[in-house]
Amino acid sequence: MTNEVWQLLRLRSMLGDGRVYCGHRESRIVCMPSCPAQMRVREDTVLFRTAADAQAQGFCPCSVCDPLRASRAPSAPPLVQAAREYIDMHSAEKFSLDAIAKALFVNGSYLLRIFKARTGCTLLWYHNFVRCQQVKALLAIPSISISEAGEQAGFASSSHFSHVFKKMTGMTPSQYREQRSRG
Ligand SMILES: [Zn+2]
Repeated sequence: MTNEVWQLLRLRSMLGDGRVYCGHRESRIVCMPSCPAQMRVREDTVLFRTAADAQAQGFCPCSVCDPLRASRAPSAPPLVQAAREYIDMHSAEKFSLDAIAKALFVNGSYLLRIFKARTGCTLLWYHNFVRCQQVKALLAIPSISISEAGEQAGFASSSHFSHVFKKMTGMTPSQYREQRSRG
């Protein structure tokens, strides 16, 4: 599990909902990332792609967050969902709260507050998260250099790129590529 994924789980962020399911080994319960119910310890946590995968491995769906039901319906309120989609589509551009707020017809500080309250994360953190996911996908392609990966994801300078990537993943881009190639 990478640091970013663990941060989503630790913060019980809605941003993880639908992307990953969080199994608790000790209690054999599987939850949505945003579920407030179970104690969460990194060493005790196992990730699943779907709630059904977890069930197949003997994990019971949590009765609080009901991951089997939740996996069929997105739980994010429309504004949070819209902000996520905007950032997903514009992550290669420079982060601008004004631009996001304008596109969604809301006040910027209101948007920041709602997003943080519902996800535990700032908009800028999510923007960096999306960029780093893209970098990881690009680093899987051997013909793409590390600096190209950073540029394509939208990082304006290589020092900013390594700083953000390291903060999000705990590794530099070259460490990540090396680790990946070792399998
Ligand atoms: Zn739960």
